Amino acid sequence: MGLPEIDAAGEGAAKRERPERPPPCQLCGSPSWWNGWRLVFPVLHRLVDGALERAEQWLARMKCSSCRHGSTLYSPGMYPRRQYQLDVVAEVVATMAFGDRGPTEAAREVTGSPTSARRWTRWVAQLCAPARLIAVTTWIDPDASAGAGMAARTSELCDRWRVSRVLDALETLGGALVRAGVTLGSCSGLGRVLEWQHRSHGEVVGLCCEPRRLSPPMALGP
Ligand SMILES: [Zn+2]
Repeated sequence: MGLPEIDAAGEGAAKRERPERPPPCQLCGSPSWWNGWRLVFPVLHRLVDGALERAEQWLARMKCSSCRHGSTLYSPGMYPRRQYQLDVVAEVVATMAFGDRGPTEAAREVTGSPTSARRWTRWVAQLCAPARLIAVTTWIDPDASAGAGMAARTSELCDRWRVSRVLDALETLGGALVRAGVTLGSCSGLGRVLEWQHRSHGEVVGLCCEPRRLSPPMALGP
């Protein structure tokens, strides 16, 4: 499956849209001011029909009037510093973990490379211990029973088994967040959980590190 080509000039179709006023600084809470725009070309799933799209988006930049922290305003479901957005990554990793497709075949669906598919799988497998995700899920939704009895075994699991358990735990936590009323633009558990961390704490999880924290009680919310 090929991705539609974007306008080579890069400034064709995308609109520059932003609220009248920027949100307060995420670090110190002081008012911010708008500070220009940035053009990005993420690969994402369209929310309306799930089709894959290489989008062209203008993102509004802002700057804190007090601590001078600069940041970018992301639309729901949009994760920073990633060309392939998290729902797309989750789909490729799940295809390999739960199906019988290898990295070449799984990556072809999203016009990615097998190297990326392998890297994404390793990243998700090491992203967070399933037991930790289950503990947060139980805290948000005490009735959720997913993963019961699994925690003690996680260190013994092979890579493919481990990544499937992490994906399962992310899906369950993502579902609990939605039931708790958190507004999220992502569709996958991976996307929902990391979007939640980003919105709550400004934390951006890179390809080689796990979340520093999964939100404490006071931070539950969009
Ligand atoms: Zn600030």
